[in-house]
Amino acid sequence: MYTVNNKYEVNIGLEIHCQVISESKLMSGSSARYGGTPNSHVSFYDAAFPGQLPLINKFCIEQAIKTGLGINATINKTSHFDRKHYFYADLPSGYQITQQFAPLVGRGTVEIVNEEGVAKSIRVNRIHVEQDAAKLIHDRNPNFSYVDLNRAGKALMEIVSEPDISSPYEAGEYVKKIRAMVRWLGTCDGNMDEGSMRCDVSLSLRPIGSKTLGTRVEMKNVNSVKFAVQAAEFEAERQAKILDAGETVAQETRLFDPNSGKTKFMRSKEDAIDYKYFPDPDILPLVLEDGLVDKVKAAMPEMPDAKRARYIAEFGMSDANAAQLTSDIAFANYFESAVKSCPDGKSISNWILGDLSALLNEANSSIEDSPVSPGALAELVNIINDGTISGKTAKDVLGFVYTERKSPKDIVAAKGLAQISDTGAIEKAIDEVIASAPDNVAQYRSGKTALFGWFVGQSLKALKGQGNPAMVNEILKSKLG
Ligand code: MN
Repeated sequence: MYTVNNKYEVNIGLEIHCQVISESKLMSGSSARYGGTPNSHVSFYDAAFPGQLPLINKFCIEQAIKTGLGINATINKTSHFDRKHYFYADLPSGYQITQQFAPLVGRGTVEIVNEEGVAKSIRVNRIHVEQDAAKLIHDRNPNFSYVDLNRAGKALMEIVSEPDISSPYEAGEYVKKIRAMVRWLGTCDGNMDEGSMRCDVSLSLRPIGSKTLGTRVEMKNVNSVKFAVQAAEFEAERQAKILDAGETVAQETRLFDPNSGKTKFMRSKEDAIDYKYFPDPDILPLVLEDGLVDKVKAAMPEMPDAKRARYIAEFGMSDANAAQLTSDIAFANYFESAVKSCPDGKSISNWILGDLSALLNEANSSIEDSPVSPGALAELVNIINDGTISGKTAKDVLGFVYTERKSPKDIVAAKGLAQISDTGAIEKAIDEVIASAPDNVAQYRSGKTALFGWFVGQSLKALKGQGNPAMVNEILKSKLG
């Protein structure tokens, strides 16, 4: 168990904002693409011109449902949109449309593995759908700031966890799990450095064994997994110092500064904004049509945990390989495409994660851009399994396939790499080795069996490394024995 100063345990809750991948915004038809000339993806509605009305984007709602199903959450048939008021230059209407009182997605769970290797379930309280704010640009002019409304009104899914996370490490694993999940489902690109996924970290300490939670401090807009871990580590130490000194932790909002690795004061509870939430009078309650959730469910890909279990059961691959192949949908897609042409999934997984990954890493490339197609890798494993080439030669063949972009069979034919499995040819080579070394033969037969390896080596050498090793062993044994 993670503790601070052997006295306190940690409770962390995370609120993660994920921008929905969609063509248009949550409540308007403007483009929701990333980038673009500033203020070019803006409708009258996005700019909060009077008299403009919102219209819920059904696609965005379906993406949030999909994300909810990804954490086995309840999908609420009826949900509401509310106004959250604050006055700031990034919010033209003066309020953000969110789901404060009745969110679309209810309780769910996210499975992580903690630092002790133990599986742990983190409860998610809700996922609500809301609008993103505009982007303020402060670094172009020393005297004033710019506003880019392209981001204003894009759909966000806010995933709110319970304070079940008990260490900075677990916080990092949770963020990674959410990021992998939304990428897997294609509902958010998870790019934290571009701001399409951002998290708020709340942390409190309590004496070990205590049942009541301590006073929490929130850290806003932490934009990488590493920073989430660092922010939690720093904050746990800071609060422990306060408690050790006999003082109380103040409920406040702080900012994490990646340069110093420290959090700094932003505002206290007394300064907390009163958002004056109320139901948006322009938007009717969102009532999902019958069958919509089932329709979304039917279109979902198999989830990583289920896929992982299936790979182990169906292909007999190692747990480590199954975990790695399902950590990223690109790996899983590549694997599944390859096993269509070769039933030996276990070997395929070893080649993908071993030699092929090594080649890709060396070239700083990824599985999506692999010059070796899934079909080519399947063919390679097939010609190893049918004895055409040895596993050792296959490594070279893979290298040639990678650089020359030809099929393994063509490479083997063009370079004469086929394995010799012809009994006559192998016997001939072995006879020559035996005839050339009468002393070693005599020693072997008088009990120095360690010499067997030498005979294997010489025979394979005589066959130019292409002799079928199993056959060489067998024939040598009978001829020497
Ligand atoms: Mn929010």
